[in-house]
Amino acid sequence: MGLVCLSYRIYMIGFLFLLVIALLPAWIASEKGRSFVKWYIYGVLLWIIALLHSLLIKGSVIKCPKCLSTIDEKATVCKYCTHKITEDEKAEVMKARELKRAKMKKNVTIFLIVIAAYWLIFSVLLHSVLHVL
Ligand SMILES: [Zn+2]
Repeated sequence: MGLVCLSYRIYMIGFLFLLVIALLPAWIASEKGRSFVKWYIYGVLLWIIALLHSLLIKGSVIKCPKCLSTIDEKATVCKYCTHKITEDEKAEVMKARELKRAKMKKNVTIFLIVIAAYWLIFSVLLHSVLHVL
């Protein structure tokens, strides 16, 4: 029983740890204009590769307001639809990104609280329940 309990706890702690550290490549990639959620999943599945990849991806990207293709942040003309990107459009994209970032910060905070609560429940409650049995 003790061994099963111990290996289960190690597994649980390892998994929760992975869920937390997977935030790192997701954060780096989202700062470069990539999807936080997609990069988070990537980080959970292949952490070290996702982390290196997030560090290596070049420059920031934005979405063309007209065709929604991913283009370089510094581009003035979309290479897919040749739409000319005005300063106003760029400012709007940046504003949207700021809003998204604020929302993401809130979600990440909630997520970390949930993980901490989960960890507490599992390490404290499960431990005491197993002791009673
Ligand atoms: Zn375009």
